[in-house]
Amino acid sequence: VRRSKVSGKAESYQMQAFDIAREQFSMETALRRAIENGDMRLTYQPICDLSTGRIVAFESLARWTDEDGRPHSPDTFIPVAEESGLIVPLGRWAIDEAARTLAAWDARAGGDCGVKFAVNLSAIQLQRDAIPQLVEHALATNGLAGARLSLELTESALVTDPDRIAGIMHALKALGTTIAMDDFGTGYSNLAYLQKLPIDVLKIDRSFITGMLADRDKVAIVRAILSLSQALGMMTTAEGIETRELSQTLAALGCTYGQGYVYARPLEAEAAYSFLSASH
Ligand code: C2E
Ligand code: MG
Ligand code: MG
Ligand code: MG
Repeated sequence: VRRSKVSGKAESYQMQAFDIAREQFSMETALRRAIENGDMRLTYQPICDLSTGRIVAFESLARWTDEDGRPHSPDTFIPVAEESGLIVPLGRWAIDEAARTLAAWDARAGGDCGVKFAVNLSAIQLQRDAIPQLVEHALATNGLAGARLSLELTESALVTDPDRIAGIMHALKALGTTIAMDDFGTGYSNLAYLQKLPIDVLKIDRSFITGMLADRDKVAIVRAILSLSQALGMMTTAEGIETRELSQTLAALGCTYGQGYVYARPLEAEAAYSFLSASH
């Protein structure tokens, strides 16, 4: 593309938009290939009971390293997958892969390996795909009870068609799965949904946890979320716990579960299984 000598403002904005669109498209092409070729991976990060330290679950987190060996963050490729519709095949793969892996862990443990798996569901995926049917199929195919899976939704899922999402959540609950509200506190201001929807866990967004010990406002917000969840009979998970001190404080405040680098970073499946075996 030829850049004109007198590059006016409007033109440079156009160029930027063009470059961004082109980059997006090439990422989309590469991502499509990765999904088709089975190049996506799931990593697994432990979620611990804050009062006992015991691992209760692992959250599955998608990873993608492209053909040039460059890793891409889910914060970059999930939005591209959502905009392009690739979130549908990607999301299907993630549900199946998590269920397969959990069943394999059970087989190695000679029975229930003692943890649940949490799977993230994007708002777009919930709009476009038949999630309860996919989850039911993944459970049945792998011989797993519904209670072994937790599904993480964000508040953004509730914005477009709340009634439809409520139906999906009830269908998932009917399978026995747990439902967690991810990134809680960052999305939506209307809290009425909390009493209407079958939510088991509020995951307190990392932004409130990071730096909390030096910030009274963050402590106030975390306390408020904890008392809200207690009043509504829900459990809580604090995301992004990076220090012992934080995990102790959150335990003392009555937070149920914790997740973060202080326990472990997201681990490849094999390392995650070893981590579990070593700790249980
Ligand atoms: P999330 O579901 O809120 O996942 C938690 C994120 O926090 C993960 O980022 C995790 O690696 C990171 N994290 C955990 N502990 C710590 C900590 O102590 N400190 C810091 N700084 N970060 C921590 P990750 O893996 O980059 O994923 C980002 C987001 O991408 C996820 O946020 C989720 O919204 C989305 N995502 C990842 N995998 C999938 C997937 O399979 N499907 C869908 N729909 N979304 C996914
Ligand atoms: Mg999550
Ligand atoms: Mg989160
Ligand atoms: Mg997040």
